[in-house]
Amino acid sequence: MHSGTSMAEVKKKSRIAIVGGGLVGALAACFFAKRGHQVIIYEYRSDIRMENSHGQSINLALSFRGREALKAVGLEDVLINHHGIRMQGRMLHDKKCNLKEILYDSVKGNCIYSVSRRHLNVVLLNAAEEYPEVQLHFNRKLMDADLEKGKMKFLNTNTGMTEDAEADLIIGADGAYSRIRRIMARRPLFNCAQTYIEHGYVELSVPRRKDNEFAMKGNNLHIWPRGEFMMTSLPNEDRTFTGNLFAPFHVLQELKTPEALLNFYIEHFSDFLRLIGKEELVKQFFERKPQTLISIKCKPYHVGKTVVIVGDAAHAMVPFYAQGMNAGFEDILLLDELMERYDSDFAKVLPKFSEIRCDDGHAICDLAMYNYREMRDLVTRKSFLLRKFLDQVLYTLIPNSWIPLYSAVHFSRMSFRKCITHKEWQDKVLRTSFLCFTLLTFAILVVPFVRNII
Ligand SMILES: Cc1cc2nc3c(=O)[nH]c(=O)nc-3n(C[C@H](O)[C@H](O)[C@H](O)COP(=O)(O)OP(=O)(O)OC[C@H]3O[C@@H](n4cnc5c(N)ncnc54)[C@H](O)[C@@H]3O)c2cc1C
Repeated sequence: MHSGTSMAEVKKKSRIAIVGGGLVGALAACFFAKRGHQVIIYEYRSDIRMENSHGQSINLALSFRGREALKAVGLEDVLINHHGIRMQGRMLHDKKCNLKEILYDSVKGNCIYSVSRRHLNVVLLNAAEEYPEVQLHFNRKLMDADLEKGKMKFLNTNTGMTEDAEADLIIGADGAYSRIRRIMARRPLFNCAQTYIEHGYVELSVPRRKDNEFAMKGNNLHIWPRGEFMMTSLPNEDRTFTGNLFAPFHVLQELKTPEALLNFYIEHFSDFLRLIGKEELVKQFFERKPQTLISIKCKPYHVGKTVVIVGDAAHAMVPFYAQGMNAGFEDILLLDELMERYDSDFAKVLPKFSEIRCDDGHAICDLAMYNYREMRDLVTRKSFLLRKFLDQVLYTLIPNSWIPLYSAVHFSRMSFRKCITHKEWQDKVLRTSFLCFTLLTFAILVVPFVRNII
């Protein structure tokens, strides 16, 4: 028996099938096994621990919500302190190659961490496998399911044969294009909206310097805001950077030839071009196809007491608030808290999960869309910097009442909906204060002057 599993918990053990052994599915396996349930992960891909491939988006920003979930299964330390790279703020690169650092939290010193997606997934799969209650079945693609009965059909991609499986609870952690969610969509009263934004991205890797050091400051998330498009770059453990060019597809399509690409980079991202080198930029850009970005809002997240969707399957979002994985990890933490509250009674846990989480899922999808505008455009504006300054002053003076939006999202577990309403309240307070200040100034300066004239 794994330490932390009490006898009372083992008595109520259920069969849990987790569809998808990505980041959120593997973490869910740890939580459910810790409670003594029998868990099987069914993963479409082969075991990434046996492969050398990196997949897309090599590194991810991990923040408080994700860390809290990792901490609950004893994995925070190994991922943050041994493999995470501290990012203390945004480093803005303007067109003239000037740099400006904006700290994420100059008051409490909070920061986010860059971690390797692959490493994270490997650590989570290893941790799940350490529980005797967990089995990992790779090369299993979910084809269909009877959701009420907990029955599933998988294609074994090694043998080409169909396999049947059954569980008391199916957890759909099968990502943005979730098959479980599509099966749920056949049912009445399930709402689902998917939005592709008109922008795509291309991943580009910056090598380390000759002295094996970072080519740019290592403790920052680097941003090149250019209004309609932008670049971002996160540090990796091996001292390289992983960058992304985010731009409307019509802009990406214009970059058809090496010459067009190099001219574009000379005009907009000349310092990045210097770091990556012309040859490498052309090679990487043309061997990768621009990727699409999708946002999913659906409701509810469960079916009766037998199915629940989590992570990107429930709320895929554009990556601009770096919250997709963090929110997915928080889903599992919330599920675990509800399992505790309702004594592992799925009939109570799952509806409550939908009730609490759906609106929050929609809220973070909206916030992620908003942050794209902030990152590529607003950060360069004086009004943004003034607002940031006022936020920091008020946060310093009244840290428990005035929490800037970024801090609320990244450094607290405030519900995502509350993060939005809190920001709306702050906007109102600042607007009203500004109006009062203007009227008062007017009264002090202009009224005596008018009186004298009369
Ligand atoms: C460019 C980019 C940058 C990002 N940066 C960040 C960041 O900095 N911070 C952050 O928090 N988030 C970030 N995200 C979001 C993050 O990558 C996702 O939110 C996260 O990977 C979701 O995890 P998941 O386990 O729900 O889904 P996935 O990681 O997609 O895993 C789903 C798994 O299900 C499997 N699967 C799919 N279909 C089936 C099937 N039919 N049967 C069986 N298995 C199946 C897949 O093979 C996969 O392994 C970023 C995303 C992108 C695109």
